[in-house]
Amino acid sequence: MYELLMPSRVVYGRGTLGEVGQQAKAFGIKALIVSDPVMENIGVVARCAQYLQEAGLPFAKYTGVDSEPTDVHVKEALDVCRSERCDVVIAIGGGSSIDAAKAVAVMMTNEGEIGDYVGNQKRFAEKPLPLIAIPTTAGTGSEVTKVTVIINTKTDVKMMISQPALLPAVAIVDPLLTVSCPPSVTAATGVDALCHAIEAYISRRAHPVTDVLALSAIEAIVGYLRRAYENGQDIEAREKMAVAAMKAGMAFSNASVTLVHGMSRPIGALFHVPHGVSNAMLLPGVLEFTKDSAIERLAVIARIIKPSLKDVSDAEAADALVEEVKQLCRDLRIPNMKTWGIDKAAFDKAVDKMATDALASGSPSNNPKVPTHEEIVALYHYCYDYQ
Ligand code: NAD
Repeated sequence: MYELLMPSRVVYGRGTLGEVGQQAKAFGIKALIVSDPVMENIGVVARCAQYLQEAGLPFAKYTGVDSEPTDVHVKEALDVCRSERCDVVIAIGGGSSIDAAKAVAVMMTNEGEIGDYVGNQKRFAEKPLPLIAIPTTAGTGSEVTKVTVIINTKTDVKMMISQPALLPAVAIVDPLLTVSCPPSVTAATGVDALCHAIEAYISRRAHPVTDVLALSAIEAIVGYLRRAYENGQDIEAREKMAVAAMKAGMAFSNASVTLVHGMSRPIGALFHVPHGVSNAMLLPGVLEFTKDSAIERLAVIARIIKPSLKDVSDAEAADALVEEVKQLCRDLRIPNMKTWGIDKAAFDKAVDKMATDALASGSPSNNPKVPTHEEIVALYHYCYDYQ
């Protein structure tokens, strides 16, 4: 048996931000815009607000989300939502803004705190406020996933919460919004999307529909991420990446991520490495660890990335995939943990907790080769200065 969950409406295309007023008006009488200071500074929040005004929809805003949102951002945004009596939430920004807004939408109608809903301990009993998600990065796919990732500031754990109530009602995917992403953000978010697609394809919970989404996402990312990175104004590349990130999001939301994401979240929570970068730091090493348990599937991916591998054995193709991924990360100038500047002594001290947190997230259990605690510790050490 398998399921496929996604938002009931996806509006895609150049300039579709202009649809936000009409879409939001269908759901409520006052909107809360959730975003971050960069989006505010570059005028994206103002453009969104202008479309709401033109549609005659009053709004309030919370633009305090940092990269990697925390339970504190969620609480602050909830306070604004409650005091302004908003009944529809609009997220505009990268995955951080969208994830914070998802938490606000569900916590407006459900009891307790967002951290109570980690794992399967507790389900959202009440329908959330409707959420319109508008991504400005081509990476997380959060606009189409049933996932939110929020840092618990008391425990320094990146809490992953995955429930259908977290699906946005509408995703508006306007690739022109990603044109202003600087190269470093384009690189990190693009590799995040690649990880989603690869992990969804090799996941123990992959199914035929997620396979199609994942493989076509991989093909597009490999074909266009370097172009978007080298020339941010390349609209064709931005369009291909926006769709690929969305497809990769649909794939992993339904098939789950695996070991890379499980190990990546603790690096982000403890050392404040952007999510896509911490994924990239792990991807080649984790593929090597996993290879023997997923040779055939890794070979399929390898031959999509490099069609000339059609004449070699699956094992050779899987080896070549690791090399291709390493080369992509080099071309995108993505550092390893050492060159990023993670202090080795602090890393050594934290690594046991990181492995515990990675295992507790549940993602590693979907990896084709399920690691032990000791194997995760060893993998962290292996990836620390992986070239
Ligand atoms: P982000 O939202 O943290 O943004 C990174 C930086 O880029 C920020 O400073 C932001 O202001 C800036 N930025 C975003 N769009 C821009 C644009 N168009 N122009 C200029 N600057 C721009 O980064 P992200 O990678 O999109 O999101 C990361 C978060 O998403 C992490 O917390 C991660 O855990 C989470 N995540 C969630 C899911 C999910 O399904 N919910 C999936 C993967 C990752």
